Amino acid sequence: MSELYELTASEIATSIASGTVSAREVADAHLRRIEATDPDEATGVRAYITVTADVARAAADRVDEARRRGETLSLLAGVPVALKDNLCTEGVPTTCASKILAQWKPPYDAAVVEKLNAAGLVPVGKTNLDEFAMGSSTENSGLFVTRNPWNRTKVPGGSSGGSAAAVASLSAPLSLGSDTGGSIRQPASYCGLVGIKPTYGRVSRYGLVAFGSSLDQIGPFARNVTDAALLLSVIAGGDGRDSTCVPLPVPDYRAALTGDIAGLRIGVPREYFGAGLDSQVRASVMAAIGILRGLGAVVDEVSLPSTDYALAAYYIVAPAEASSNLARYDGVRFGFRPEGKFAGHEEMFLATRSQGFGAEVKQRIMVGTYALSAGYYDAYYAKAQKVRTLIARDFERVFADFDAIVTPTVPTTAFGIGEKSDDPLAMKLSDICTIPANMAGIPALSQCCGFDANGLPIGLQLMGPAFGEETLLKIAHAYESVTDWHTRKAQL
Ligand code: GLN
Repeated sequence: MSELYELTASEIATSIASGTVSAREVADAHLRRIEATDPDEATGVRAYITVTADVARAAADRVDEARRRGETLSLLAGVPVALKDNLCTEGVPTTCASKILAQWKPPYDAAVVEKLNAAGLVPVGKTNLDEFAMGSSTENSGLFVTRNPWNRTKVPGGSSGGSAAAVASLSAPLSLGSDTGGSIRQPASYCGLVGIKPTYGRVSRYGLVAFGSSLDQIGPFARNVTDAALLLSVIAGGDGRDSTCVPLPVPDYRAALTGDIAGLRIGVPREYFGAGLDSQVRASVMAAIGILRGLGAVVDEVSLPSTDYALAAYYIVAPAEASSNLARYDGVRFGFRPEGKFAGHEEMFLATRSQGFGAEVKQRIMVGTYALSAGYYDAYYAKAQKVRTLIARDFERVFADFDAIVTPTVPTTAFGIGEKSDDPLAMKLSDICTIPANMAGIPALSQCCGFDANGLPIGLQLMGPAFGEETLLKIAHAYESVTDWHTRKAQL
C-alpha cells in the first residue's frame, strides 16, 4: 500500500468520498511529509515559506463533516494544495518572498483561493518564489533558496519554484503558481510535472499580487494531466473583479481527456529547435513528437518568425508594467517601513524601497521606468508593443491550420544553484520558449517527456489558440497514457 502522500489528487478525492480515508488523515499525512522533507536548512527542499497546518486541518474537518452529513463532495474535496506566496490569503502572510511584504497579512482571499475553499481543497501552505515572481530559479527569493527535489544541488526553476518543488517532493499533490513569462511551465519542466499557463483571461487575477498585469496568469501544477485538468476546472471562470477575466462557460476539462488525438494537426516551429537547445532535450522532445504521430496526430513543421524578438520585447513590457505595479510599496500602505526619523515622505519612500526590495526587483523597476519615460517611450515601450502584435499574428497564422504547437519547454534541464547567478542573460534565456505564449496571451502546458543522463526531468510544451486548453489537455493526456514518465518520483 502506498503512503497517502504518494496518491494522486484524484485517488485522494475518491478515497475520501468513499470513506476509505478521512480528509483529516490525508491532511496530516501531507503535513508530516512537509515536516520530514522541507524545513531543514542544510538538506531540506525548502518549498514552503509558511505552513498553514491549522487552516489545513480546519478545512479537512469541514470536508469530513460534509461527508458525514451525506453531502455530495466536489471532485477535489479534501485534496491538499499549496499556494504560491503571491496569492492573497485572508489573515495568512502573503510575502511575495520580499522583505517589503514580509509581515503583510491580506484582508481578503484571492478569487482562486475562494474557489479552492468552496470546492473543499485543503491549503497546506504558501510556497517560495523569486521576489515578486521576477526570476527563473527561486534564487531571487528575498527569504531563502528552494532546492529541486530530483537533485538538491539544482534549482527547481522559477519563479513558482516552491509550488513545483512542493508537488515534486510529494508534500502536496497539487499547487498553484503564476506565469508571466514561464513561471509555471519552466519549473514544471525542471521538476517533472504538468504545469499549465491558461489563456490570458481564463482565470481571475483578483488577489494575485500584480507583476506584469497584461501577462500574468494563475495556473495549476500536478503530477499528471487528469489532476491538472480537475484543478483548472476549479479555478477557471469569469470574475467581475478582474475586468480582463472573460465570462465564458468553463468546460469540464476532464471530459476532454478521451485519449483520441487522431487527425489533430500539430505544428513544430523550427525557431524553437535552434542553437542553445541541449541535445538530450532535443532527442526527448523529438521522441515525444514521434509518439504523438504514432497516436494519429498529423505533425508538420511550421514557422513563427517573430520568436527571436520575444525575449527582448518581454524585458521591456514586463518591467514597464512592474515599475508601475510596484509603485504602491512605499512604506505607507503595505508592509515594511524602516525604523528611524525621516526628513520627509520622499526620504521615507527611498529608505523603504532601498531596504525592502532586492536587487533584481530594483533593476526591473529602473528598466521599466526608463522604458516608460517621455523621451524613450516610443523607442522602447511602444516598439515592444508592436513586436507583441507581430508575435500574436505569427500564432494566429499557424492556428488557422493547426490545433496545437509542440516545442521544448526549456532548452536545458535544471541548472545548478548558483550556476547562473552571475550571468543574467543565461538565466533569462531559460524562458526563451515560454515567453511567446504570454506575449500572445495563449494557453500553454508543460509535461514531462523524459530524463537526461543525470536523472533530471525534461519538459515538452504544448501551445494552443486562445481558450484552447481542452485540446492541450487532450494531447497531453493521450501522450501520458502511453508513457510512464509521470509515474516516476523524486527520491528524498
Ligand atoms: N523568468 C521570467 C521573469 O523573470 C518570468 C517570470 C514569471 O513568469 N513570473 O520575468
